Parts: sequence; C-alpha cells; structure tokens
Amino acid sequence: MRIAVIGAGPAGLAAAWEVVKAGHQCLIYEAADRPGGLAAGFKDAGWSWELEKFYHHWFQTDHDILGLIAELGWSDQVLFPRPKTSLWAKGKPHLFDNPLSMLMYPHLEVIPKVRFGLTGLYLRLAKNWQSMEKFTAEEWLTRTMGKRAYEVLWRPMLIGKFGEVYREVTMAWFWARIHTRTTHLGTFQGGFQRFLDQFAARLQEKGVTFCYGASVNQVKGDGGKVLINAGGTSESFDAVISTASPEALLKLAPEIENRDAAYATKLRALRHMGAAVVILALKQQLMPDGTYWLNLPASSPDKSQSEFPFVALVEHTNYLPREHYGGDHIIYCGEYVMPDHDYLKMPEDDLAKLFISALKRVNPAFDSGWIRKHWVFRTSYAQPIPLINHSQRIPDLRTPIPGLYSANMSQVYPWDRGTNYAVMIGKQAASRLIEEFQK
Ligand SMILES: Cc1cc2nc3c(=O)[nH]c(=O)nc-3n(C[C@H](O)[C@H](O)[C@H](O)COP(=O)(O)OP(=O)(O)OC[C@H]3O[C@@H](n4cnc5c(N)ncnc54)[C@H](O)[C@@H]3O)c2cc1C
Repeated sequence: MRIAVIGAGPAGLAAAWEVVKAGHQCLIYEAADRPGGLAAGFKDAGWSWELEKFYHHWFQTDHDILGLIAELGWSDQVLFPRPKTSLWAKGKPHLFDNPLSMLMYPHLEVIPKVRFGLTGLYLRLAKNWQSMEKFTAEEWLTRTMGKRAYEVLWRPMLIGKFGEVYREVTMAWFWARIHTRTTHLGTFQGGFQRFLDQFAARLQEKGVTFCYGASVNQVKGDGGKVLINAGGTSESFDAVISTASPEALLKLAPEIENRDAAYATKLRALRHMGAAVVILALKQQLMPDGTYWLNLPASSPDKSQSEFPFVALVEHTNYLPREHYGGDHIIYCGEYVMPDHDYLKMPEDDLAKLFISALKRVNPAFDSGWIRKHWVFRTSYAQPIPLINHSQRIPDLRTPIPGLYSANMSQVYPWDRGTNYAVMIGKQAASRLIEEFQK
C-alpha cells in the first residue's frame, strides 16, 4: 500500500513507523519546515540543546513513547531528573510534590488535608475511570474530598487550566492526570526536538518520504483511493492518516459532512483550549529555592481577576543544567485560554510585558534588566476539553471517507494530551488501517 500521513508531529511519526514496519510505503506531508508539531523546539545562538517552544516533559508511566524510544535503541539518551513542583499560596511558593510536603502545607486544616490525601491515593490506585466519567471533576471531588479541600487545592488549578469551562470537565480526565503522574520527569538529551529529528532521520532511512513546507489543503475520496491536494498538486493514496485537529480535518475534508453528518457533528462538538507561552532567557535565577514548576492558582475564569495573568511558572533551568542553554536561566510563563481569547491575538510584546509584570511578585528582586531575550509562542489547539460521558463523544479513528483515518489529541481520552498518547494514537490508527485493508 501507499499511505500518506498528514503531520510530522509525534502522532504522525509514530503512525509512519508502524506503516513502514508493516512493509508499506509512506509519505508525510508537514506544513512546517521540520518535524515536531507542538513538541518542536528552537535554539538560540550559543545554546547546545534545543528548547521546547511549549514546556515539555515525560512521566515514568509514559510507556508508549518510552517503549518506542527503547525499540529505536535510544533509551540511554533519556534523562529522568527529579525536579521540585510547588504551589503558590498567600505570597509564597510551597513545595507540593510528595506526601510529606502535602502534609506540611500550611493553608489547609488537618481533616480536609487527610481527605485530600486519601482521595489522591484512591485515584492513584483505582482503574475504574468509566464509572467516574459521568460526573464532572467538581462534583466528584467535592463529594469525595469535601468542599474545603477542593476549593483550596484543586478548584484554582482547574480554573487555571480550563477557564470558563472548568465546571464542565469530566472526572475521568482528572483521574487520568493523577493516576499516571510521577515525580521524576523525563526528557531527551538535546531536547524533544533532538529525539524527533533522530526519529524522522530513522524513518527516512526506512524509506519514508518527508514533504516539508507542504500544507495539505484538501482530502477527498476518489473511487476507493484518497486524493490529497497540497500546494496545488494532487496525489492519490491507498489510505491517509490525518493528525490535524478535528476542526482542521473538517475543513480539509468537507466531504465527511455529506457522507456521515453524525460523524461531522461529533468532530465539530469537540472543544479545546489554546495556549500562550512567554519564554525568557534571564541573566539570573528567578526561583532560588530550586522550584522547577510553580502552579499559580487562578481565582476566577476572568484572567484579569486572578493574582497572576498566567497559570504555570516554569524555571526550566531548575530542572536541566543551564550550561545547555549558553548559561541562560530559562523561564516559561504559560497560560491556557479559549481559542478566541485576546492572549492569542494581542501583539507579542504586549503579552510579554503583561506576563513579565507579574514576576516581581514571585521574586521581589526581579528586574527587567535580568532579561536577555524573550520569545512568544501561541497555539489555538493546545488542550482538548473532555466533558462528561466523553467516551461517547469521541469520533472513531476511521472517518466516513473510505481509507481516511484520524488520530489527534482529542481522541486519546481518558488520557490527557501528551506526546506519549500521540504515539499511542498514531500507532493505533496505523495498525487499524493496515488490519482493515488486509481483510
Ligand atoms: C502548552 C503545552 C504543553 C505541553 N506539555 C507537554 C508535556 O509536558 N509533555 C508531553 O508529552 N506533551 C505535552 N504537550 C502535548 C504535546 O505537545 C502533544 O500532545 C503532541 O505534540 C501531539 O502530537 P500530534 O502529532 O498529535 O499533534 P501535533 O504535535 O500538533 O502535530 C501535528 C502536525 O501536523 C501538522 N499539520 C496540521 N495540519 C496540517 C496540514 N493541513 N498539512 C500539513 N501538515 C499539517 C502540524 O504542522 C503539526 O506539525 C504540551 C502541549 C502544549 C500546547
């Protein structure tokens, strides 16, 4: 078979790997000029490692991607340091990444703290996410750990991640987050981009053709084949795997609507958040207590009402040595917003100024003179919003156009989006396609 893959992000690369391993031909169309998708990196002059445009790490439970890396023979290039995660409350960061630090947390009474701990333990051990998906996270957590613990600890984080829709998020999503988290966080030597470049090179050796700068603008059925149009040139394939977002897929293949209106309705109903990230290269360390990840609780879905204009303050060089980045201290300020939010449209420098203005609260000594350089990265498709009974809302990997398959972040439920699940879904789509063609 001759199979095309749309997208050279982790899902597209993993799908191509399965395709060539099964002995078929594969061509990847990628709109950007390199592989990586949302996990892609960039490098400033003097840096020896690439830095992810959006903060990225793996958990030790990320078996699909770590298994793939082992299969490729590169496990010795995976690092798993144990950085510090903290929670901001009442003007201070509080370490919050192990049972003892949670027990010591000063802004919650003993009984709610015990209920918080027991609920967390239950979520780590329980496997029955299906029974949780009919409840919102707010309903289930309030009932289980009590209103007080929920409101102090989890509500601010849910607001931070999902803004105005935080009350609608299913408990199954929350379960998946707690169930799979580990304290050791992983990366690849040289950054995620190094892994993705190496993987793309291995695929090329195996015969995969990469078309970079090739934005697919139409996909349609063609008498048992699938026709792709990219940049005015059309090519026919036996099958196609799209890793574009649900919204983008509908635009690429409007024929889906005519063939199966219910499938199109499912694609259209999937909602997601966007993300805005400001990266700073600083001359000095921002969080001298060594915190890597500082959760900044949001008190209101209206971002201007919260203490901080963003939800995650990540000091990357408190996780990985700054020698990889020419001695710079690397900071990410990250926020999730609805796709039409001003943060995704406003001039880059205005967004940077707004986020930078909050840093003095974390370290009063901070001065804008510490900033050597800054970058802004934004995307409107960053985080699917899983609603109650979400399993029934997910469109099948096989679309109504014969031979066209879809594998994207919105389909990895109950798991939260991540490169691990991108690999999982990319492999699943490829195996399913191959199996169905063999029948
Ligand atoms: C803020 C943020 C933080 C994250 N943190 C983590 C983390 O800590 N750990 C982790 O593992 N994951 C993290 N992720 C998630 C991770 O980046 C994604 O889950 C993963 O990249 C999804 O892979 P994908 O291949 O499905 O999609 P993408 O990475 O989005 O790749 C899709 C590719 O398809 C291409 N494409 C789309 N349409 C077309 C078209 N019409 N023609 C040609 N090409 C097209 C795009 O250019 C893109 O390269 C984070 C994401 C964000 C936004």
